[in-house]
Amino acid sequence: MEQWHCFKCKEPMVESDVDMAYLETTGAIEGIRCPKCGATYLLEETVVEKVNKVEELLESK
Ligand SMILES: [Zn+2]
Repeated sequence: MEQWHCFKCKEPMVESDVDMAYLETTGAIEGIRCPKCGATYLLEETVVEKVNKVEELLESK
């Protein structure tokens, strides 16, 4: 996996579950967290995957 660094403090980020809310869906997905300042980032590819699934669900209603 690619190594990410916090854009604020340049600490190496650690993998962590991150809560997200998008449209009507909430849940913890894979993301990264800065151990120093606690900032969390979602991994873009994970978000895209999740959002695509949500949009499929919404369209199939
Ligand atoms: Zn940080």
